Amino acid sequence: MNREDFPILAKDLIYFDNGATTMKPQMVIDSITKYYSEYCANAHRGDYKNSQIVDSIYEGVREKIRKFINANEASEIVFTSGATDGLNRIVFGFFKEYLKKDDEVLLTESEHASNILPWFALQHDIGIKINYIPLDANGEVTIENVKKTISPNTKVISIACVTNVIGDIRPIRDITKLAHQNNILVIGDGAQSLSHIKTDVKIDDIDFLVGSAHKMYGPTGIGFLYGKYDLLNKMKPISYGGGMNAMYLKNGYMELREVPTKFEAGTQNIAGVIGMGACVDYINKIGINKIVTYEHELKEYLINKLKNMNNIILYNENVAGSIVTFNVKDIFSQDVSIYLDKHNICVRSGNHCAKILDNVFNISNTCRISLSFYNTYEEIDKFIEVLKNIDNIWNEIL
Ligand code: PMP
Repeated sequence: MNREDFPILAKDLIYFDNGATTMKPQMVIDSITKYYSEYCANAHRGDYKNSQIVDSIYEGVREKIRKFINANEASEIVFTSGATDGLNRIVFGFFKEYLKKDDEVLLTESEHASNILPWFALQHDIGIKINYIPLDANGEVTIENVKKTISPNTKVISIACVTNVIGDIRPIRDITKLAHQNNILVIGDGAQSLSHIKTDVKIDDIDFLVGSAHKMYGPTGIGFLYGKYDLLNKMKPISYGGGMNAMYLKNGYMELREVPTKFEAGTQNIAGVIGMGACVDYINKIGINKIVTYEHELKEYLINKLKNMNNIILYNENVAGSIVTFNVKDIFSQDVSIYLDKHNICVRSGNHCAKILDNVFNISNTCRISLSFYNTYEEIDKFIEVLKNIDNIWNEIL
């Protein structure tokens, strides 16, 4: 679907690593080139025409993101450098003040490192406790398991809306409902969900959400953080400098700007913000519902083909997302991906930045195919043909 929009896909390339990053459509590339070649200026700094154009496009992107996730106000959207940056700002800017010693955060063992390590740091800094919601036999989160894990000390649940390892879609709406009944805040890591399923922070009642544009057909180095206004108002910036202050005196007195400007210190990644606006327009143009349906059908097609091969171990055939995780019997996952690369097929192998998940699957390294709407049935057929000949692996890769 819409393959022709992506210049890189005109080459002989089967790109199945969309969980790592997505390819960029011409429209996104053009939006960035246009900024640099036609109206380049800083944001919120100048009184001349180009600067005003930049200001209006820059703030326009905030509104596009607001609409995309159905937030109440554009001021609830803060530009960040990506999901990792967003999670760190939430943990150190909000929860470092909000949590006390022995307060508890609930995570899962299949979270990305970016949603585990900041909490480890807080555990060291202020003595919070980390507890893991047990995963079921499929590696998924169930509301019953969340219920069982909540304790009187639980103050926050921080989980991916969709995981990057097996692509399971978490029951976020049920989790926030249960959490709020118990005065618990919920952070959604949207890195893997925003371009694959519909996100509605109002219906899902998420307190904080983070995303990365590069996983949404946009540029690298840019993303956003959403927070309910009252929470953002209490959150502290973790960076101070130009643009975010209203005034300061030499005695150390300073007044910061309002939310969200107080979180955007220094010159921002303006080209990135503009590219992120273009990728949101692009996803809207295709339609998220169409993407969900197509990716689901494609994933089922792939699963059915792999199930018929007796040398394939599948780890997640029942999950709802568009990720397929597997191993080839008796072959190390990285060797499989090197072999596939010889045929211009890009898959990811390793632990996918979820280094404690081996406690669940008893396996730390897998191959991962993460599909996008621009992947095709023909690509899957070619991949299966190449995989059928894997007996040649050692002739080809050594
Ligand atoms: N969370 C999840 C679930 C991810 O898959 C990733 C990226 N692999 C991240 C967070 C971090 O995103 P980024 O590297 O764009 O900051």
